[in-house]
Amino acid sequence: MSSLFKIIKKDKDSFARVGEISTPHGVIQTPAFTPVGTRASVRGLDPVDLIKSSSQAVLANTYHLYLSPGLEVMEKAGGFAPFMGWSGPTITDSGGYQVSFLWDPKGTSRKVKITDEGATFTSHIDGDKVSITPEKSMQIQSVLSADIIMSFDQPVGDSMTSKQKNTAYQRSIEWEKRSFVEWAKIQENRINKQALYAVVQGEDMQSRRQFLEKVMENNFSGVALGGQVIGSDVSVTRQNIGFTSDLLIQKPVHALGLGGGVHGVLAAIEGGIDTFDNTSVTRMARTGILFVYPEDGGNNTNKFKIDFSKSKYKFDTSPVSVVCDCILCKRFTRGYLRHLLVNQEPLAIRLTTIHNITFINSLMERIRNSIQTDQFSQLKRYFEFEV
Ligand SMILES: [Zn+2]
Repeated sequence: MSSLFKIIKKDKDSFARVGEISTPHGVIQTPAFTPVGTRASVRGLDPVDLIKSSSQAVLANTYHLYLSPGLEVMEKAGGFAPFMGWSGPTITDSGGYQVSFLWDPKGTSRKVKITDEGATFTSHIDGDKVSITPEKSMQIQSVLSADIIMSFDQPVGDSMTSKQKNTAYQRSIEWEKRSFVEWAKIQENRINKQALYAVVQGEDMQSRRQFLEKVMENNFSGVALGGQVIGSDVSVTRQNIGFTSDLLIQKPVHALGLGGGVHGVLAAIEGGIDTFDNTSVTRMARTGILFVYPEDGGNNTNKFKIDFSKSKYKFDTSPVSVVCDCILCKRFTRGYLRHLLVNQEPLAIRLTTIHNITFINSLMERIRNSIQTDQFSQLKRYFEFEV
């Protein structure tokens, strides 16, 4: 797996880098955004829309696909990518987060029992008892057949007591070791080899470093970060991401559920993140909240986002963005988009989702180019990000 990741250029002032992740289904130019197709579908878009919006990879959700349509369908299809008609690189998460969310008392009334062996819960689809262990997660992810898969962990939640947090932390170290062993065994029989990322846990920098040192005794292909480390607070993101860089010189780093909008992305990239996913890019789009450039009225106050469902856009004949070259911006007016949104026309979902994905993918391309030409600081200034 040593050829998985190649660093092409490092930024001179930060941990940001341009690289390439080589998968059996193509190369991901990094830094890159990976749109989320939770159930093997990016809501409202087909694979042609994804390609036209410069998407390089799709991330799908192990927990949801395991429950529906289930492994038999996935096995027959040859994985979730052929099932959805996507031929490019793919990523799956491990299901650990979803299992933990079920467990969250603030989440739902569904119950999950977590022991050192694994997690057992009731399916929200048919009420069946379901069990996911680290080994099972690797087996499911092998059937889903993504190029990059995640080791099974128990994320630390806000509502946990410190004792529960410590249990989840220690348990995750063991679970990730077990994930690695099972993954290695499975790969011997696979034609398209999968890369396995460790998922880093820990509440503070020291505990995350210790976690990373422990799990990287196994030669994981890369590392994923999640939770509060890369939450919506940009200053926290900036402080927290760089900590891994000296331990992970040649490994790709993925941010799971990266928050914080444009500034969150810039903070993550300057901290050394190579790929990231985020569901709010597409979720926001569906409500009419779209990313815009400074030329379109984007600034630090509105966080480069405008709600186009507002009545002030009723008679607006300008495009959403004069910079963006997506179909929404090239062909339609703000007034027409508002009309689609207020009447809940299905076309609105497709157009707004294409725009937001195109925006983030264009941002990533600009970032890659700026690092290549030593102009990352200038790009950060253009988006009013404190350099
Ligand atoms: Zn656009």
